[in-house]
Amino acid sequence: MALKPETRAIRLQSERVRREHSVPLYLTSSFVFDDAEQARALFADEVPGSIYSRFSNPNTDEFTAKMADLEGAEDGVATASGMSAVFTSLAGLLRAGDHLIAGRALFGSSHQILTQILPRFGISHTYVDGSDPAAWESALRPETRMVFLETPSNPGLDLIDLAAAGAFAASHGLILNVDNCFATPVLQRPLEFGAHIVTHSATKWLDGQGRTLGGVVLGSKDLIKEIRFFARHTGPALSPFNAWVLSKSLETLHIRMRAHSDNALRLAEALQSRPEIDWVKYPHLASHPQYPLAKRQMDLGGGLLAFQVKGGVDRGRRFLNALELLSHTANLGDTRTIATHPASTTHSKLSEADRLAVGITPGMIRLSVGLEHTDDVLADLLQALGRSA
Ligand SMILES: *Cc1c(COP(=O)(O)O)cnc(C)c1O
Repeated sequence: MALKPETRAIRLQSERVRREHSVPLYLTSSFVFDDAEQARALFADEVPGSIYSRFSNPNTDEFTAKMADLEGAEDGVATASGMSAVFTSLAGLLRAGDHLIAGRALFGSSHQILTQILPRFGISHTYVDGSDPAAWESALRPETRMVFLETPSNPGLDLIDLAAAGAFAASHGLILNVDNCFATPVLQRPLEFGAHIVTHSATKWLDGQGRTLGGVVLGSKDLIKEIRFFARHTGPALSPFNAWVLSKSLETLHIRMRAHSDNALRLAEALQSRPEIDWVKYPHLASHPQYPLAKRQMDLGGGLLAFQVKGGVDRGRRFLNALELLSHTANLGDTRTIATHPASTTHSKLSEADRLAVGITPGMIRLSVGLEHTDDVLADLLQALGRSA
């Protein structure tokens, strides 16, 4: 029976834990062998099964299998956080002397890995403008091995054409690695466009309830074999408890992402006509400069939107201080709507010029739209706009 993704996210359970209706939690560091022969076969990778929870565990296996299924990947490795997923995907596949091409608008810690950490191991990078894949040729070097991208970007919500990126990687024999955290496989599946590796912070929409850290790297059997070797011996393992929480979260991922996207679109439309606001950016809003691309590669617009309050940094800060219902935190991907002022918080360490290069204007507010009733969220946004004038 060919099941739909919504059904598979709920029904795909590991064989070994089938009798319990909800998969039990395996809080154990190691597993007992049946006999010496089974121990040998497990270590030789001849039979499936768990040896030690740094290598694998039924809970992390279940989470990884569900994520691989949703992204259309052959295999995957679960990690303790999104950053360990990103680092493992880079360090597991690259070596000294290699070069990578990266879209300029990256998550802050990914930027630190590329600029401060990988160079210590002899791995260099060149940033490119994500909006123009045709221009990436000029960044190529004989030692280029990988392209690393995020789309939509944080917090600017600019898109990179995944089909064009896939064609670029294919024509130069490069590994295309996409951080798909913002979209989730419900909205966008980069492997369908020619990506080879997908990474996620499961901390965000995959859990969606602000409870755990987690991450996952997905891709072909061959690439994941190298990444698994790296992870097994360096130890960024996801805890079984967090994997158990995340597997449960995936059962509601489709329904949540649809609701987050519906709510975000409604708020984007309502904010767009307000006189206190210069612009609103949301992938599935017709005024987004890459709207046709957003419609092509994203099934829905997602839960994040950005807007610019008139009056610059000070008004942006007054606006945040005037919010009563919404949370003011740096996180995203929660049931609770979260407002962030990137210029004074998450991206304050960048120079103003660097901020503008990735689309962060002084009065820009990023909204991670939750699952509250949009009437209540909008009422809070409007009263805060009024009081911050
Ligand atoms: C949050 C985030 C990460 C890092 O994830 P953690 O789970 O916090 O380590 C990586 N990429 C993107 C796009 C993110 O939003």
